[in-house]
Amino acid sequence: MRGEAQLELLLKKEKLSPRHHEIAGKVAKQKRISPEDGLFLFQHGDLAFVGALANVVRERLNGDNTYFNRNFHMEPTNLCVYDCKFCSYSRLIKQRDDADAWTYTMEDMLDIVRKYDGQPVTEVHIVGGVLPQYNLEFYQDLFKKIRAHRPELHIKALTPVEYHYIFKKGKVSYEEGMRLMLEAGLDSMPGGGAEIFHPDIRKQIAADKCTAEQWLEIHEIWHKLGKRSNATILYGHIEAFEHRIDHLEQLRQLQDRTGGFQTFIPLKFRNKDNQMSHIPEVSGIEDLRNYAISRIYLDNFAHIKSYWPMIGRTLAQMSLAFGVDDIDGTIDDTTKIYSMAGSEEQNPALSTQQLVELIRRVGRRAIERDTLYNILQDHTETKFEEDKQWRGYIDLPVVQS
Ligand code: SF4
Repeated sequence: MRGEAQLELLLKKEKLSPRHHEIAGKVAKQKRISPEDGLFLFQHGDLAFVGALANVVRERLNGDNTYFNRNFHMEPTNLCVYDCKFCSYSRLIKQRDDADAWTYTMEDMLDIVRKYDGQPVTEVHIVGGVLPQYNLEFYQDLFKKIRAHRPELHIKALTPVEYHYIFKKGKVSYEEGMRLMLEAGLDSMPGGGAEIFHPDIRKQIAADKCTAEQWLEIHEIWHKLGKRSNATILYGHIEAFEHRIDHLEQLRQLQDRTGGFQTFIPLKFRNKDNQMSHIPEVSGIEDLRNYAISRIYLDNFAHIKSYWPMIGRTLAQMSLAFGVDDIDGTIDDTTKIYSMAGSEEQNPALSTQQLVELIRRVGRRAIERDTLYNILQDHTETKFEEDKQWRGYIDLPVVQS
């Protein structure tokens, strides 16, 4: 395997400390690393070292397979009763008349779904702001109507932030609420709203929404109903490495209990137009280190995803050598969350061909999946028409004479 050969070479060549060798030995022998090991990697693991370890784990779990799907997003509103300091996307209710605020009606949302009639999308991803009118009944109705219109479309919707709010307002327990969502047609839960679990940081950046314990509890209940979900972290702001490890450890423990998480998606803090804009963003190297250490630490998660609308296509492509085996989907310019936060991807949309070529160009296998990682098509041999509009990612240098 390439990853193991890469690691072997690195261990021979470099003057690494006994501690580096100890951790590398654990990974090579498929032993779990401890929180102290994880912290050591954040503090002393350079990109080459953690990348080589992560590649071993990635290739052990997924070989060269790199997954993507055909999906679109639906964001019912960007008005929100909460006021998370890092959020560039939301507007307060009193800003409802701002030009960049929106609230969709049920019909608007069904129109978005109908727009994809006849197109081979497999998933709708629904998240947005939290508002009183988008309550339990609204979402039950929405899921039922989507299900009736397009029974095979996978509904991946809402995070514990929304569920906590609507269940409390609807006076139902988390168990009862999640059962109602399941009956209405919810298929899986995305991973958002986790931010940073540690209370010292959470209370500074997202004080008023659901707590870490509530976030974890709602996922646990969902998993116990036999359903799947994803998990995230918001990194690269005021947190310390200790807080990242605490977050990963809590996820690893829950996954040991339920096995219900599919994918871990590190989300980068972007600093455009939010209350934390004075905080510089971390570098691309730190993004790659964070993917890699997440891959090494979360030994019970099958997949690590880099979300290309957030970090851009080039870094998403590079991340495939640093533990990542999934780059999300076609998106079709249906999300504003990261474009409003300053991502280079202002109108995120990639065709199947573009995603496949992006993956193939770094020597990985492009696998089209459904939301639950059933393989829909292995694109290793797929031939596409030449795309004359698309220049790919290789910009030729401009030579000045
Ligand atoms: S992060 Fe979510 S909950 Fe927080 S303000 Fe933004 S939309 Fe609202």
